[in-house]
Amino acid sequence: MIFFNGFQVRNIGQQWRALKSGLILQPLSDQDTADMYTVTKEIHFCYGHRLLNHKGKCRYLHGHNATAVIRLESSELDEMGMVCDFSDIGGFVKQWIDSELDHNMLMHQDDPILPTLQAAGERVYVMKHNPTAENIARLIFDQVETGGFPVVEVAIYETDSALASYRRPSAQ
Ligand SMILES: [Zn+2]
Repeated sequence: MIFFNGFQVRNIGQQWRALKSGLILQPLSDQDTADMYTVTKEIHFCYGHRLLNHKGKCRYLHGHNATAVIRLESSELDEMGMVCDFSDIGGFVKQWIDSELDHNMLMHQDDPILPTLQAAGERVYVMKHNPTAENIARLIFDQVETGGFPVVEVAIYETDSALASYRRPSAQ
C-alpha cells in the first residue's frame, strides 16, 4: 500500500497525478474511495516450451520452474469475512494446473516440432499463441474466471527475476 502526503494512493495513475500536482491531491472519485479487498494465491509448477520466431535462446526447447500469482478482488466480503477461502482458489487452480500445465510442454500450434513430439508420445499442451509467460498468464486468468472467481490479475514468475502478467479491471 502506498501513501502520499497522508492519503492512500491506489494505483500508479493516481500516484502520478499526486506527484504532478505537488502537495495538493486531486479529489478522489467514488470508485477510488470504495472499499476493496484482495486475496493472492501462489501456485508453483514446472513447464517446458520454446518460442516461435524468437531470435535469442528462447527458440530452443527449455523449461522453467514457474510461479503463478493469482489475485482476486472484491469490494465485499462473504459471511466468513473473506473474498474467497485460500483453499478454494488454491485447490481449483492447482488441480487445473497439475492436470494441464505442470510437467508439460506448452507448444504453439504452428510449431513444426509439435507432430514429432506427439508421435513420440510426449505430453504437450497446444496453444493458439506463442507460449510466453504473458500468454500463460492469460490462459490461467481465463480458467480462473471460468471457475467463477473474482480474478483481476494473474502473473507468472518465469524465473525469480522475470515477471509477466495479465489483468482485467474488476467488473464491480
Ligand atoms: Zn522460457
